[in-house]
Amino acid sequence: MSDVQAGERGSGEAQAWIGLGSNLDGPHERIVQALAALERLPLTRLESASRRYASRPVGPQDQPDFVNAVAAVRTRLSPLALLDQLQALEQQHRRVRERHWGPRTLDLDLLLYAKERWQHPRLTLPHPEMARRAFVLLPLAEIAATLVLPDGRRVAEAADELAMGLAADDVRAV
Ligand code: AMP
Repeated sequence: MSDVQAGERGSGEAQAWIGLGSNLDGPHERIVQALAALERLPLTRLESASRRYASRPVGPQDQPDFVNAVAAVRTRLSPLALLDQLQALEQQHRRVRERHWGPRTLDLDLLLYAKERWQHPRLTLPHPEMARRAFVLLPLAEIAATLVLPDGRRVAEAADELAMGLAADDVRAV
């Protein structure tokens, strides 16, 4: 049995949402390439993708702005098999991790996987930071406005609340 078959989910397709971010070495192009790579993942199809957003970095400010996007996929990979694929893609971009919250060539987060809740050493689902991050919720609201977050709010409502606390150019579609 191949690795992919080993990572196949038992019960058909699941919808999952993936957050993408980059702020090094051509970040716009990297996000475009990463979205194209999501289309080629095994047992997975890309359903939709947001526009790209530029956002100010979280943490140290002496680094370039990030380019972010969110994608929705339908997959028959298990959550961990999907995470393996995302981490392999990060590696292909030779992701640089010099410091926490520092610059990175490509960061892929599994935001939600169906209604799964996980506390695994490698995977927390839903992604614990997603509801606090405007660079996740604004693009997610574009493609999944009515999706209900773990705290019961709709994505559009949570995104509006976060957007109220932002300066005009903190997170902007580009
Ligand atoms: P970061 O570089 O901050 O995105 O963190 C990467 C680490 O977080 C990896 O070791 C992953 O195994 C772990 N991780 C836990 N939950 C998630 C998730 N929902 N999406 C992506 N990585 C996750």
